[in-house]
Amino acid sequence: MKYLDEFRDPSFVKPLLKKIEEVSRKDPARIMEVCGTHTMAISRGGIRPLLSGMVTLISGPGCPVCVTPDGFIDAAIELGMNEKVMIATFGDMIKVPGRGSSLEMEKARGLDLRTVYSPIDALKIAEENPGKEVVFLGVGFETTAPSVGGAIIMAEEKGIANFSVLSSMRTVPEAMEALVLDPEVMIEGFLCPAHVSTIIGADAYLPIVERHGIPCVVAGFEYLDIFLGINMLMRQLKEGKAKVENEYKRVARSGGNLKAQGVIEKVFEKGDALWRGIGVIPSSGLTIRKGYEKFDAERRFGISVSLEMEDTACRCGDVLKGKILPPECPLFGESCTPSAPFGPCMVSSEGACAAYYKYGGA
Ligand code: SF4
Ligand code: SF4
Repeated sequence: MKYLDEFRDPSFVKPLLKKIEEVSRKDPARIMEVCGTHTMAISRGGIRPLLSGMVTLISGPGCPVCVTPDGFIDAAIELGMNEKVMIATFGDMIKVPGRGSSLEMEKARGLDLRTVYSPIDALKIAEENPGKEVVFLGVGFETTAPSVGGAIIMAEEKGIANFSVLSSMRTVPEAMEALVLDPEVMIEGFLCPAHVSTIIGADAYLPIVERHGIPCVVAGFEYLDIFLGINMLMRQLKEGKAKVENEYKRVARSGGNLKAQGVIEKVFEKGDALWRGIGVIPSSGLTIRKGYEKFDAERRFGISVSLEMEDTACRCGDVLKGKILPPECPLFGESCTPSAPFGPCMVSSEGACAAYYKYGGA
């Protein structure tokens, strides 16, 4: 298939389902869709019931908003309490609950909060407001890291001294590996994220395949991409193979985007990171390198983001480990809805709980 329309053609679905059926076992294979955009597409397309009995799809930690720990929100609020500070963030962060409040609630109490579409927008705000310290909340995976790194490089080049980043950037393969090592999750195959893979490349999953024998298939976000990716995974399982395959070759390359990787490498270094609901995952965070420390909000303002796990009734951690489905959380649809979210999985438009709330168990 060459054109996008073909990936949306429903007449391809039946033959693909037949192929999946041919390579499926008696018990359903446990496949994790790592990315929140896949989770949303699967729910929107009603894909789960079509695969019933053949595949159990587990929603993974691929939504950066959902895995951002409450300590990060608390640190952002703490920074925002400083009258000189203006917080700039992507819109989906403002409702995420911290331990006692959210950015939205604090905005109502006077916190200076701006919603931006990119880190460059935040940099522009800093340029236009020299009397303010603009702190951008850097939340995202490898897809977002190049633009955050690029803004830091630009701030350095332009001498913009009132801009900094509170970094909660994360890397996906390390989280996948942590989940493989969790005996309760029992993943047999990964449907790997499309956008992240365009940056890191399909080869980034080779260590997972080589160390753990778990098949990995990079797949796009159209419905047929998802069926094709699942078929590739199921075929590998049937043949007892484990390799990296790339269904999304039209965009993602084996080696990824070297220029973007170069920006990440230049500005960030690996560090341990706390993933909400999962715990601390070694080397899964991107912290700002010493050479750029003046743009690191933690160092600049002498604060630190807590690495302690929250004690909460939200069961997002169990959702993203595939231990429960969102409706099994006692708060689902009761004290936790998209308009009044209790946990992060209900906040983000790509959260598994939000997807279930919107589309049911489809
Ligand atoms: S329904 Fe709400 S409280 Fe329950 S796991 Fe999902 S986000 Fe957390
Ligand atoms: S919100 Fe949902 S999709 Fe996002 S990490 Fe949590 S469980 Fe996964």
